[in-house]
Amino acid sequence: MSAPRSKGPKRHIPQRTCVVCRRTLGKRELNRIVRTPDGVRYDPTGKQSGRGAYLCSDPACWRRALEHGVLARALKTTLSAEERHTLSAIGDSLAPAAASPSAQHPAQTTPEPSPAS
Ligand SMILES: [Zn+2]
Repeated sequence: MSAPRSKGPKRHIPQRTCVVCRRTLGKRELNRIVRTPDGVRYDPTGKQSGRGAYLCSDPACWRRALEHGVLARALKTTLSAEERHTLSAIGDSLAPAAASPSAQHPAQTTPEPSPAS
């Protein structure tokens, strides 16, 4: 029951920019924060209407976005203490368990060729 709806071989992948580190990533690799009439919240679907800002999954970016007002500026609003608290918890939960000592498989190293700009 999963007929692929292919619309052709070439699909445009939307690119978005992390508001803190300015890295450009595919939409799915970024986390959307949306400003709604009810306040600022995390939008896991990426479909909520409202002014949105994107953050990558680096917890450092979330911290800067919240503590330095980067996110608030991007959304042209102010964040309540509660919103900051909620979002920082989400940012923390996104942190990859990098320092896991019980890693069984050695991380597959995929050296990404960085194009000289
Ligand atoms: Zn970032």
